[in-house]
Amino acid sequence: MPTTEPDRVPGRRDARFAVVNPATGEPFDQAPDQQPDELDAVVDRSHRAWRDWRADPAARTTALRGAADAVETAGEELARLLTREQGKPLTESYAEIARTAARLRYFADLAPRTRRITDGRPVHSEVRWRPLGPVAAIVPWNFPLQLAAAKFAPALAAGNTVVLKPSPFTPLATRLLGSVLATALPEDVLTVVTGREPLGARLASHPRIRHVTFTGSVPTGRAVARAAGASLARVTLELGGNDAAVLLDDIDVDRIADRLFWAAFRNCGQVCMAVKRVYAPARLHAEVVEALAQRAKSVAVGPGLDPDTRLGPVNNAPQLARVEQITEQALADGARAAAGGQRLDGPGYFFAPTILTDVPPDSAVVTEEQFGPVLPVLPYRSLDEAVDAANGTGFGLGGSVWGTDLDRAEAVADRLECGTAWINHHAELSLAQPFAGIKNSGVGVAGGPWGLYGNLRPFVVHRPREE
Ligand code: NAD
Repeated sequence: MPTTEPDRVPGRRDARFAVVNPATGEPFDQAPDQQPDELDAVVDRSHRAWRDWRADPAARTTALRGAADAVETAGEELARLLTREQGKPLTESYAEIARTAARLRYFADLAPRTRRITDGRPVHSEVRWRPLGPVAAIVPWNFPLQLAAAKFAPALAAGNTVVLKPSPFTPLATRLLGSVLATALPEDVLTVVTGREPLGARLASHPRIRHVTFTGSVPTGRAVARAAGASLARVTLELGGNDAAVLLDDIDVDRIADRLFWAAFRNCGQVCMAVKRVYAPARLHAEVVEALAQRAKSVAVGPGLDPDTRLGPVNNAPQLARVEQITEQALADGARAAAGGQRLDGPGYFFAPTILTDVPPDSAVVTEEQFGPVLPVLPYRSLDEAVDAANGTGFGLGGSVWGTDLDRAEAVADRLECGTAWINHHAELSLAQPFAGIKNSGVGVAGGPWGLYGNLRPFVVHRPREE
């Protein structure tokens, strides 16, 4: 679900909105509330910067490598700010910064391949690749920096310029990232704009934007696709997920429990490709529930800046209300909380890590994306039933199969209808692999060379071999 936005700060002449620390529930800073009518000037500057940026691939490689170095140098400051506004434990923020730099470095060295087509005719055609123009990158609040980098690194490497709009819940680390990158990139090659809607909608429909690359919820993704239709810009959508983990009857519950728990609860469950439903064989169901519940009860929940914290708060008040509502609905539908089940007392947006059992399969916590620290564990009797249930939602981002016999697990994974299927883990991605959801989970391909080509268009030169 899309999240309702923060309020404008009253009584100020320059428009700003408050940024809240989710660990306290209190505003700690403000960000510019840029207005849609400012976008013409921003996109025009981005378009002008494109002329030089697209012309020199070697200069781009050098600049992007320099940008990666600059991110690492500013890592400590970026990580602390990210934790303050997003909520995640500091160790996860460091990892996010490292992935941001790694993406820049990976794409800095990636170039498209020119191809000669020879088909027996007395002509040859050469397929070259050209950038598209200014790209709009619109991202959510769960991984503000690494998801932004997943968009701007391939777009810039391909020779496009980028206008990046973070979520109004997490504008500050992205603004800081923008100024860090500005030390390595030419002016206006990457511009960060912050503001509340309709800033994103207007950016997506801007006539000079040639590619809108969006990560966020399904309803907003639909709105973005409609907006981009105005100028027929290319659209890449990375949307929500409702990934299932299917456990096979030969698992060793103790051995996988930690990995499975963190596949669901990392970043407080606010991961597009987190495990959001577990299907366990009926014979092992109680043991799996118990193993996960033990971990949920004992994990250290607290402010992300506290070094002992393993699980931070939910990022924002509307998302906390959503997690609370979907959990209460499940309990009203007949589910039982084996751990957690409610908000934690005290300040901040904390929700007790929750394991749900006896959940009716048509309860919203199973059929929709909870996007928070709540995990339903459902029993199954036959493998066909489990695979059908795993495939039975409108989402198709990822999925996983857990078993001791790897060949058997892989055969089951092959039956999952999604973009990525993992065996015995979940949500691990290589920079070099394609990332693409199916059904409501997305349109287009990100990651690896596919992500680079997603920011390029073919340009064909066709000439006779000799005259
Ligand atoms: P959201 O859809 O509410 O917002 C995403 C971004 O779009 C934000 O920057 C927001 O300000 C902006 N926006 C809002 N309305 C807009 C409009 N009409 N036009 C253009 N932009 C608009 O999502 P969220 O709540 O910030 O993030 C959570 C969602 O993101 C979850 O559904 C999650 O699964 C998804 N997500 C997907 C991936 C993926 O790679 N598939 C990764 C991370 C998160």
